[in-house]
Amino acid sequence: MNTTKEDMNNFMGNFPSKTFADGTCHIIGSFGNVGVIETDEGLILFDIAPRQFHNIIFKKLREFSDKPVKYIIYSHGHFDHAFGFASVIEEIKEKGWEMPQVIGHENILERFEKYQILEKYHIWLNSQQFASAGVKQREGIVSAHETLDPTIVLTGNDTSYSFQLGKYNFEVYHDKGETDDSLWLYFPEKRVIMSGDLVMNPGFPNIGNPNKVQRYPKHWALVMEKMLEKDAEYILPGHGQLIEGKKNVKAALSIRAEAMHFVHDEVVKRMNEGKWFEQIYHEMLEIYPDKFKTHEFSKPTYGCYRFAIHATYRLYHGWYNTGNPTDLFPSKSEDIAKEFLKINDPKKYLDHAKNLHENGKPQLALHILDIIIKASDLIEKEILLETYALKGTLLKQLSKEEPSFIAKNSYLNGAKKMKGLVKELKREMR
Ligand SMILES: [Zn+2]
Repeated sequence: MNTTKEDMNNFMGNFPSKTFADGTCHIIGSFGNVGVIETDEGLILFDIAPRQFHNIIFKKLREFSDKPVKYIIYSHGHFDHAFGFASVIEEIKEKGWEMPQVIGHENILERFEKYQILEKYHIWLNSQQFASAGVKQREGIVSAHETLDPTIVLTGNDTSYSFQLGKYNFEVYHDKGETDDSLWLYFPEKRVIMSGDLVMNPGFPNIGNPNKVQRYPKHWALVMEKMLEKDAEYILPGHGQLIEGKKNVKAALSIRAEAMHFVHDEVVKRMNEGKWFEQIYHEMLEIYPDKFKTHEFSKPTYGCYRFAIHATYRLYHGWYNTGNPTDLFPSKSEDIAKEFLKINDPKKYLDHAKNLHENGKPQLALHILDIIIKASDLIEKEILLETYALKGTLLKQLSKEEPSFIAKNSYLNGAKKMKGLVKELKREMR
């Protein structure tokens, strides 16, 4: 089940560009793929990559065709899909060509605004989520202050837009899934779907991402079924290599639809049975069918099933998710930990955590160590040092075993933090 290096390379767009569909279409691998369609009258770009890749993308685009860009379509407004437009626009201005039509859903405008008001937070967030890919906490990469706003804005839900360029027709659909501003493109003559992040290759839908806002499991299942009806030959996914052949296209869409229906319906059923989140979560882990775990299009490369359980619950539920009034207005967790440590010696907690670790229970060991860490100002430095070090070891171990890129990075960031605390404490103790 573990994610391979090849999976991750594909996900990050480290693969050669490729022309397909009788020479009309082209995929440019980038972190956030760019789809290109060539017609007699010019080019359509489906997504435009992250800001920092604008000239690489442009170079690759110009290896494929020298025609002017007539349309840019945003699959959604994430930083890896809608910000790498600088070189394309520069060329248009230099050559005195007409500006392209830019197609986006109305919700993308709200998203761009959100990125502007939360810029610092997003810089931090991306440095966490993509830490192992070398994304650092510096400004510029994800800045949303320069946007290329849509000129054709789709409004409302379940909307669509059709247009013609050269001798071909194109259909653009709005559906919710990873985001509320998702658009996908269908090119009927060549049976090509360009999906944005509604499909990633490989991997489970990126839903319930622990750092992000609400996503839409049921809608996601339904849009997969809507795509299935097209009986397409190709899917150009938001990340990863082109999916080719009706059989593969069908497999990619069906398993994702099935997985999204499964997680949604099983969580909803349990909510109606009066269960609270913790019980639902652990029951869901027990009933997860094997077929989803290893399937190329639902294995947890980036997003994962465990996150999807959260996504469904959160879609329908508030933050009070235990049903236990103790949790309604809780005390500071530091204060709670200090009370625990009045009952028992920190050394005993540490020894117990070591025991759990040795017995293959890293998650339980972490909970015990956190009692010591949260009360750190009361703890002897020697004990604290060992505690930080053990937590670091456990998080590293979990990161190695973890298939989801997002979860893996969370563990790695935690391990790095522990390493820093160990260093700091050692300096103090000298
Ligand atoms: Zn993406």
